[in-house]
Amino acid sequence: MEVVKITPRGYCHGVVEAIRALRIASEEHPGEPVAMLGYLVHNEHVTREFFDRGVRLVDAPSRLAALDMVDSGTVVLTAHGVSPEVKQRAHDKGLNVVDATCTDVIRTHDLVRRLSSEGYDIVYIGRSGHPEPEGVLGEAPTKLHLVETVDDVDLLEITNERLAVTTQTTLSVWDTKAIIERLRERFPHIEVHNEICNATQERQQAAVETAASCDVVVVVGSSRSSNTLRLVQVVKELAHRPAYLVDTAADLQTEWFRGVDRVGVTSGASTPSQITRQVIQTLELMEPDQLVTATPDPSVRGSD
Ligand code: SF4
Repeated sequence: MEVVKITPRGYCHGVVEAIRALRIASEEHPGEPVAMLGYLVHNEHVTREFFDRGVRLVDAPSRLAALDMVDSGTVVLTAHGVSPEVKQRAHDKGLNVVDATCTDVIRTHDLVRRLSSEGYDIVYIGRSGHPEPEGVLGEAPTKLHLVETVDDVDLLEITNERLAVTTQTTLSVWDTKAIIERLRERFPHIEVHNEICNATQERQQAAVETAASCDVVVVVGSSRSSNTLRLVQVVKELAHRPAYLVDTAADLQTEWFRGVDRVGVTSGASTPSQITRQVIQTLELMEPDQLVTATPDPSVRGSD
């Protein structure tokens, strides 16, 4: 069986920067408590490294609720960003605030702030319950309208002539296309600002293109990660190939590969390279009906 390594895959610049920021924060004030406000990035293999260094995870249904659990020391805001209220509350509590928000997410916050100050209502395409929409919606709660599906568009009641639409950074271009088309039908004057980040778009594009010449695609990453789930979705829906999500090589199942000549492998933007490499090596060693899990190389770190 041929194993095709899909590129680009793995760490994006936002994840690399967030990991660097938390590493520095955890080393800078030895002995002082350091808390990450939610998962730094949506991959437990990444966050586990920091638990070993004594960093505490504070997680709750909202970032504000999570912040209630931090009384002193350093708090690290994750790559997904937070609302201005959370930032202000953290400063008011006298915490040392390390902001690891991805620059692409910051750009969306800036856009939403500008549009709302210019009198726009803004439709925001995102996933309810994900931290990124929570942070962006906090920029202008009365001006933003969260939609997840085409059906949600039909429920909107907006009369403002100044209307714009923007997106969560880690959605699929194809998903948002259908929603934006429906918005254009209902509100022909709407301004479109596509904020899906380049890292997400490039990984999706490569996965769809390469999947066309593969029998099956394996996506390595966490089921918590929005961009990882979208990779599975685009391979299934656009390349019409089976796609399987695995957290590690241990999740691979032999029956997925019966009669398969070519398997494509990609990974989410927060998946450590050593995990993906182990999946690739395991597939390369695979005999029919028998998986031999490759041994991870602990010296290998970073992007893949
Ligand atoms: Fe930033 Fe995109 Fe990476 Fe999210 S997936 S951290 S928005 S570059």
